[in-house]
Amino acid sequence: MATIGETKTDSTNVETKTESTNGEQVSRHQEVGHKSLLQSDALYQYILETSVYPREPEPMKELREVTAKHPWNIMTTSADEGQFINMLLKLVNAKNTMEIGVFTGYSLLATALALPDDGKILAMDINRENYEVGLPIIEKAGVAHKIDFKEGPALPVLDQMIADGKYHGTFDFIFVDADKDNYINYHKRLIDLVKIGGLIGYDNTLWNGSVVAPADAPMRKYVRYYRDFVLELNKALAADPRIEICMLPVGDGITLCRRIN
Ligand code: SAM
Ligand code: CA
Repeated sequence: MATIGETKTDSTNVETKTESTNGEQVSRHQEVGHKSLLQSDALYQYILETSVYPREPEPMKELREVTAKHPWNIMTTSADEGQFINMLLKLVNAKNTMEIGVFTGYSLLATALALPDDGKILAMDINRENYEVGLPIIEKAGVAHKIDFKEGPALPVLDQMIADGKYHGTFDFIFVDADKDNYINYHKRLIDLVKIGGLIGYDNTLWNGSVVAPADAPMRKYVRYYRDFVLELNKALAADPRIEICMLPVGDGITLCRRIN
């Protein structure tokens, strides 16, 4: 039986046979950023090759390729999810946004490219070094002026913004892609900072598919550790009357929350 969370970290694109969690033989291609929960790798590859890669902006392609060489490349947002975020932000005419969890900046760049020239992204990460891997590409793309990067844990920044009082209901879109054990804590604060009618996107809400795995299924340690937090978040979001939700099987699962009051 395969271990949940076992993901390839090399930059090759080789078809291999591995076992799925239910023991069935499935084919899984090996590609950095492969986060799809689709059970058919051929179908995922089709999506990438037909719809995503041919339309991927050059800077995003460059950043994806640079990130593929990073030892923690598994953390990156996948190209299909980047395309989704970019389209979504244009559809809702987002201007003032926030991102928690930047890494090398793939979703950040997808966001920055979607916003108008005077759009803003408050971007937070505890690690500036990884952000600086992508920064030259973001600068070359001419969108760095939209980004206000803050190094450090996001929670105290959110608390400060709430205490300030002037940020209530000001964000059109907030993408949360950081420490899963804090998502509930982020939600308590973000619901106040997002506009009524605005969106919060919580990433990885299907958590490697582990949300439906039996408790005794083999799982990578980090998958097992965060699983209960993700399960708890999913329940809490479904029960929250202040939002409408839509959980999409894009990437590793993204739950969109639209604030309604
Ligand atoms: N969105 C990124 C992308 O497109 O590549 C991927 C983000 S990665 C999955 C998670 C990031 O969250 C890491 O870069 C990590 O340093 C950051 N992180 C972890 N805990 C954090 C915290 N308390 N506050 C802010 N960022 C945090
Ligand atoms: Ca993610």
